Amino acid sequence: MELLVVGLDGLSYNMLERFDVDLPFLRRTREEGVSGHLTSVDTPTTIPAWTSFATGKDPGSHGVSNMLRQDADYEIGPSRPNATDAAIYDFLDDAVFVNLPASVGRVPAGENTHLVSAMLARDEADAVPDELKELDAYDDYVLDHDASLKVRPSKYLDHVLSISTARHRFAREAFETYQPRVGFVLFSTPDWAGHILSNLSTDRERRTFYATLVSLVDERAADLADLAENVVLMSDHGFEYKHTNVHLAEWLAERGYFVEEETDAGATDLAVRAAKAVASRSDRLYALIRRVHNHIMATEVGSSLASAASPRIDFPNSRAWQLRYGCVYVNDARFDHPTVDDPDALRREIRDGLRELTDEDGRRIFRDVLLPEEAYADPGPDAPDVIARPAPGFFPTTLWSPTGGVTSPTKNYEHRYRGIFAANGPLFAGGGETIEGMSIVDVLPTTLAALSEPLSPEFDGEARLDALADPAEPTVTDPVDLPRPRTREDALDGGARDGAVEDRLADLGYIE
Ligand SMILES: [Zn+2]
Repeated sequence: MELLVVGLDGLSYNMLERFDVDLPFLRRTREEGVSGHLTSVDTPTTIPAWTSFATGKDPGSHGVSNMLRQDADYEIGPSRPNATDAAIYDFLDDAVFVNLPASVGRVPAGENTHLVSAMLARDEADAVPDELKELDAYDDYVLDHDASLKVRPSKYLDHVLSISTARHRFAREAFETYQPRVGFVLFSTPDWAGHILSNLSTDRERRTFYATLVSLVDERAADLADLAENVVLMSDHGFEYKHTNVHLAEWLAERGYFVEEETDAGATDLAVRAAKAVASRSDRLYALIRRVHNHIMATEVGSSLASAASPRIDFPNSRAWQLRYGCVYVNDARFDHPTVDDPDALRREIRDGLRELTDEDGRRIFRDVLLPEEAYADPGPDAPDVIARPAPGFFPTTLWSPTGGVTSPTKNYEHRYRGIFAANGPLFAGGGETIEGMSIVDVLPTTLAALSEPLSPEFDGEARLDALADPAEPTVTDPVDLPRPRTREDALDGGARDGAVEDRLADLGYIE
């Protein structure tokens, strides 16, 4: 294998430092090769970011800017995978991709290229193409984790370790069987590990848990790298400790941008309201409620508690709302019942208002608040209207504040923008050099340039020649010669897929 790319979902250097974890293979790759931070996209979440890796385009161009999407009739559901942009498995012949998120339904245009998709696939049979179902390791292959096991962390730990082990076995067998020129495998474990940390009670437990999970992945990545002359280790976003939750809904509702549906207050509503009333008066009780809340989030009760604590937005009668992760949509002509005459003016008004927001200590809540043309190279019609990038330590949730106000204290671990990039082998710069300012959209052009393959003129990212050993100026494909994206015949069977995917995103807390 000429090149192996190992995805380490959600891994970042700060988490390794925080928990004092040494990953020998990552360390060696950095010491001998070239490495740096890798900046994610808006929003810095798994589906948009891996789609950007695959296409070399930002979410404004590929259209998947969030874990969720909202249709013209205001229905909210899981994002749909991009079906229109040429992707890495179209550009490369003789390649094997194992567990690439948001690629379900796509058939590689690359010759002798095989694609196992991940998140947004219905199940293993949906994700794995028929020829790879023949592998012995397919029997134990697991697409996704069972989030309900999070209530018993030790059981969850074993579960996730066994998924990584099975994925490694599957990837190894696939690489040995097909002898590809380029291989890819994604280990989701660092992301799953990050998301369970707040369920654990002590830093010692967190350290043990985190170190155990990421060490196994590092060891398995090293084993696979033995099959390749060159290796790239990368993540789609990082993780960090969050001290403050941001409740954009409080600000948007107070200013009358959205109104709520009239509904009967059920038992959970009352419970949440009572909990909020108590919490607003006592820090200690608030901390307790928050811990219990985090603990049961993975259960059925937890998700109904969460949905009771989210605003029930009356979309047709509202002007603007947050979909998720700081992304605000304006009720303009994209929707069935537009209420906004001058969407541009409203976008600027909301952007400017959010820019000024500070917490009780006067700290800015957002590092930046952008319009789509400021965040993306060439935003399409599905792009959010306002993109609020949280400041470090702040996390935008869709929930009402348990204490009222736009911010509330939390102790949680969540996504941040900066992930990792590290590359080693004869194709890459060596000697422990660092690379600055690299973005996940640069990975595909850089990889193609390393392999002396032509670039697409459509890429938003650039080939980072400073990461390469032999930085020859890459050629660019004529637009008429670009590979044409292909989709499976049953790929439009979105309804059946949505149900299964929706359940899993709900388990992960994306749908609240
Ligand atoms: Zn991720």
